[in-house]
Formats: sequence, C-alpha cells, structure tokens
Amino acid sequence: MKYFSTRGENKGYKSTEAIIQGLANDRGLFVPKSIPRLPFEMDKIQNLSYQDIAFGILKAFFPEYTDKEMRYCVENAYDEKFENSQIAPMVKVGDTNILELYHGKTAAFKDMALSILPYLLTTAMKKENEEHEICILTATSGDTGKAALEGFADVNGTRIIVFYPNEGVSKVQERQMVTQEGENTHVFAIEGNFDAAQSGVKDIFNDVELGHRLLADGVKLSSANSINIGRLVPQIAYYVHAYGNMMKRGEINLGEPVNIAVPTGNFGNILAAYYAKQMGIPFDKLICASNENKVLTDFFNTGKYDIDREFHLTASPSMDILISSNLERLLYHISGGNANIVRELMESLSSHRRYELSKEMKNSLEEFYGGFADDRQTKEIIGRVYAEKGYLMDTHTAVAYKVYEDYVEETNDRKPVIIVSTASPYKFADSVAAAIGLKATDDGFENIDMIFETTGVKIPKALCGLREKEIRHNEIIKSHDMKKAVIDSI
Ligand SMILES: *Cc1c(COP(=O)(O)O)cnc(C)c1O
Repeated sequence: MKYFSTRGENKGYKSTEAIIQGLANDRGLFVPKSIPRLPFEMDKIQNLSYQDIAFGILKAFFPEYTDKEMRYCVENAYDEKFENSQIAPMVKVGDTNILELYHGKTAAFKDMALSILPYLLTTAMKKENEEHEICILTATSGDTGKAALEGFADVNGTRIIVFYPNEGVSKVQERQMVTQEGENTHVFAIEGNFDAAQSGVKDIFNDVELGHRLLADGVKLSSANSINIGRLVPQIAYYVHAYGNMMKRGEINLGEPVNIAVPTGNFGNILAAYYAKQMGIPFDKLICASNENKVLTDFFNTGKYDIDREFHLTASPSMDILISSNLERLLYHISGGNANIVRELMESLSSHRRYELSKEMKNSLEEFYGGFADDRQTKEIIGRVYAEKGYLMDTHTAVAYKVYEDYVEETNDRKPVIIVSTASPYKFADSVAAAIGLKATDDGFENIDMIFETTGVKIPKALCGLREKEIRHNEIIKSHDMKKAVIDSI
C-alpha cells in the first residue's frame, strides 16, 4: 500500500515515509489510492478493546510496521494517561449518543491521535534509518498545540515548535501551552488568526532554500497537524469502537445505519468518520457542524468553497478556521483519485480565494449535511441540555448538537445518532459558565471552580494546578517572522 500526493506528484511513498515527511513535495496531502476494508468481522467489533481496534486499523493503513512495532505504539499511547479506561466512552443523552473524545492528557480530542503520533513517528524514523532530528512545526487553533507539545516533549530525536493565534484561543488553552515543559519545546503567539498561522507553517514547508539549510544542520521538518496521515488514521479507530459500543449496548442491530454529527474545523475529525464509512462501518449521514465561520456549510449547500468573507472569533475557537486543509483529501476521493482536478481547485483557492465543484463532484457529496450554529445558539444549547438532561458539554460539542437538532427538524431523519464531543467543558470555562447561568469572571480559572461547585462534573487532571504552573514561553511575534522563529529555535 503506497501513499500519493493529492496534487499528483509522480511518486508513491511508504507509510513510514509519508509520516516522517508530513506533506508531499508538491504541497499536496498524502492519501492512499483506495481505502482498505475493515480488518474485522462486523459482529466481532463489539468485543474488541479500543487498543485492538486501533491496532487493526493502523496496521491496515500502515503495513510497513511489524505487529510488534504497532503493538508497542498502541500500548504506549492508549494507557492510563486516559482518565477513562474505555478511552473513548459514550454517554446516552436523551435520544443521542455522545462520544466523549476528551479524556486524554490535554482534555481535547486531539489527544486521540497525538498520543500515538510520536510513537508512530519515532518508530518510522528507526525503520527508515532517519539520522536527522525531526522538527515538528504546528499551527494550532488551541488544542492541537498543547496535545502535540505533550506528545513530543522530551522525545529523543525530535523538537517541536507551536504557533497559536494570540487573540484566538481560550485562556485555559493558552495557559496550557505557555506552561509547557520539555527541553525540546518552543511556543509562539502570533499576531493574526489560525489561518495566518497555518499558511505561515505551509510557507515554511515550501521554502526549498530553508529546507536545504536545515538539512545541512541535521534537521528535517515535519507536521503534527491533521495534514499528517499519521494524525488522521488513528482517529478512525474511535468511530469503529463507537459503532461496536452501540451494538454492545443494544442501541442498534448489526449493520444498522447510524448518523454522525461532528464539530468541524480543519475537516480532520469528520474525514476520519468518512474513512470509517468507506472501510465498511454503516454510517449514513455525516453531519458537518460549523460555527459562524461557516465556509463548509456553504460548501455542502452550494458546491462552492469561498474564503472571501469576514473571519469571526467565536466561543468555539478551535473551529475558527476558513481553510479546512483536510477537505483536499475528500476532493481527491470524490474525484475518483484525479489529482489534476484537485490541483486546479487548490490553485484556484490560492489565487482567487474560491473554487467551485463540477456538478458530478457536487452530487457525490450527498452523504454530507452541512449546518452551523452561532454563539448565541451554542450557549443556549449548553444551558438547555444541562438544565433538562443534566449533561454538561463544551462549546464545540454544542455546535454539533445544535446542527443535529436542525438536521432532524429539516429532514425528520431519526436514525440513531452519534454526536462527537471534542473537548471538556472546562477548557472553555468562560463560555460554559455563562451558558449555565453563572456570573462568569475574566479569570478563566475562577470559572472552572465555579462550574465545579455548581455541577460537580469532575475537573480533568490536565487542568488541575494549571494556574500555579510556571510560564515558560511568552513570545509574541508577527506572522511574517515565523520563519525567523524557526531558525532561532533550532
Ligand atoms: C480541533 C478541534 C475541532 C475541529 O476538528 P477538525 O479535525 O479540525 O475538524 C473541534 N473541536 C475541538 C475542541 C477541537 O480541538
């Protein structure tokens, strides 16, 4: 099984090479030509542990790893770091099933993939006799940064540099990043939004001269963003596990279709659901939920992707994104693997800030539904679901919950549903406290205490003691100085 660039670079890569390199030489994303089938019998899934499912899925996509190597990666990633022994537990709330992906080290779903990526990467480096230090460059809308820092801190042979938008993350998210320990960690706030950070990182990857200079210094750049295939594939596991979990609890019969609602930013999480479906999990509608930055909602409704619009800072900052990188992989698959089409669309996006799909490609998006919720609706949902059902959710999850409600109202499709919950409510304590009627203060940490006193919902370990931790990173730079920051950090 080889990996190819979505933009047609004429070369097949081993999975280990694709993981080390992150992005193809022509700026495309690595994709397999076809998605493998599930390596399990459907009726067996419900009896498999999270680790067994992750192992099977990862081996299907990354066959270069031996069984022993993959077991080592999986077992070190999905262990007691997770505060719930099921790793990704599901909670019944009314008629919905909420899949909680935030019980890892940093209290957001990015941990699901970033707890294993360092193991996949360092194992790949050994297998490929990689002698360079791998420097991970990461643009973050708040959660990837911290999860990647935790994953790579003090990992031999690696260094990690994180860029986050200075005004675009929650107080708790920021404090998590600036207090990061580890000799090989670097964190910068940039003046600008997430798209500026992500474009800056992509520019650095594309700077051939800089690449050569770093190689001469013994350093190779790679990515921990969901553009890295090693980030994406581990995310398929929780969808397979969730389906098995629903069978086990008698929510569904074998093979019964299930809808999925996903709060979406860079399109990584929902793409993993699409991959799970391609592998054979009977998912029906893939409901793509956005906040006010609703490029994707418009895209699924019209077939036009248009970033020429106002950018909003919202209460769900991890989804404040206009350029959803992983959509490029979906375009590749729905075009039947036609890299010429993808390259043209991406060129149009970079020069005209928009592109439009052909009728044929637009028609193959039927299995997706796009919707959005603004901040007022998001907070209304958090307050209402807490008051009526006693379940507390974060702002991102609430966006998906609201869009799912809209979907049902519009279609009356009442198939069983999984709503994906991507963060602990405590990570966005300011908005959540206000949403449940508390008098939120400017101090994110007081809000954490207040929410706990009112709801009794357990505070994740990751957030306890954060207030007292020493601040180790406090540089704010302009986005055009990102390259310099990289050179200075190495
Ligand atoms: C990253 C993130 C998202 C968006 O996920 P994508 O894979 O980028 O679509 C949603 N919610 C939270 C809390 C996140 O951290």
